[in-house]
Amino acid sequence: MVGMLAAMPPPATLPAQPGDAVSRARGDACPGALRLHRADDGALARVRVPGGVLSAGQADGLRELAGRLGDGEVHLTSRGNVQLRGLGEECGGELASRTSEMGLLPSERHERVRNVVASPLSGLDGRGEREVRPWLSALDALVCASEEAAGLSGRFLFALDDGRGDVDALGADVTLRARGDGDADLRIGALESVARVPADEAPRAALLAAEVFLEAAAGSGAWRVTDLPGGAGPLSDAVVRRLLAAGLPVAREVVPVAEGAPPALGVVTGPGDTDALSVGLPLGRAGAAQWRTLTDLARRYGSGELRLTPWRGVVVPGVERGRAAELLDVLDAAGLVTGPRSPWTGVGACIGRPGCAKSLADVRGDAAATVGAGAAVGTLPVHWSGCERRCGRPRGAWVDVVAGPDGYRVSVVRDGRRDAPPCVTDDPSVLATAVATARATGT
Ligand code: SF4
Repeated sequence: MVGMLAAMPPPATLPAQPGDAVSRARGDACPGALRLHRADDGALARVRVPGGVLSAGQADGLRELAGRLGDGEVHLTSRGNVQLRGLGEECGGELASRTSEMGLLPSERHERVRNVVASPLSGLDGRGEREVRPWLSALDALVCASEEAAGLSGRFLFALDDGRGDVDALGADVTLRARGDGDADLRIGALESVARVPADEAPRAALLAAEVFLEAAAGSGAWRVTDLPGGAGPLSDAVVRRLLAAGLPVAREVVPVAEGAPPALGVVTGPGDTDALSVGLPLGRAGAAQWRTLTDLARRYGSGELRLTPWRGVVVPGVERGRAAELLDVLDAAGLVTGPRSPWTGVGACIGRPGCAKSLADVRGDAAATVGAGAAVGTLPVHWSGCERRCGRPRGAWVDVVAGPDGYRVSVVRDGRRDAPPCVTDDPSVLATAVATARATGT
């Protein structure tokens, strides 16, 4: 009994000060399951899901927690993690013990540093150079066993790319990308100069790189590679020296960062006798019925696993080929984003009101209204923001819809540049038309 109590995780706590801004002056305030975060719609917990891999049982458990302790929805993040929102302040202890029982809290000290994204379709569609699951298991175990790694911030990100270039494009702090020759490229930040290492040693090399980052960041307040005063270059040189000192064969090469693309939505044809289903969650969240549909489908017709993607989607692997199209229709009927036919395709939004005090509008509600008006489908993705920070905005070309004191401003952004002065309106019908026109024509 004493041993059981000793093994229980400590209750989740809220930071002392309200507000959602993260400030270097008061340290890393990124939330986790053990450290809740106050938002305007209640407390928020982030449950780390390395590689986005959840069993159907774990997914059921998160739905149950969201319904009993939170707002009833499962929210996905751009790191393939799960957020529970609208939590009461008194639920911390239960949240910590339940996520631990579900196997989602393998190390209390490392809970907030297990940010690992991985190619969601690795091993499912015949693409890529290698299956990244062994890297994922090895890296998570190494991180949890490293005293030094416990010092990483909740923002530090590892990416494991199977060679197709999807998560290589996400700007992680440390990226491993599989090569066709059996080795792996280790990339620091967005540097084109990579270190080629043997694939079997790649997880160890990634952890060493993170530990060298911590040494370089000491005293600087840097949480991510981009925060380092000297930039990524000196860090990359120091990492190569450390890898050589550890006895790893290392070669420097120039490999541009991949363009990357999220998994296509719909049926993903596999090389064997099973397929996968790839869907998006409207605005990155699923209600209880939608989440249950996904988990039941994964359990009954798939391999019992779900893979959460950094693009706020879910992949269900191992679906019997003859049933894939029929099951996709089930997910479509549940309101999930299944491909171009879905009005939610390409529509994103920050949390907005009431979850964020900075927001000038209920952006999710307004985005839903334009989708309901049939105005959302188009070529370019659209992202709705409640303020100028534009949290979660996409890369490349996209339609920017941002709330301001005089209404919404709608414009097209391409690689960080605005095509033309924004259309400003607070009239819902004008807004819907402006969004549809921008998405369809890109002008
Ligand atoms: S972009 Fe949205 S979520 Fe981010 S600070 Fe502004 S209102 Fe809040």
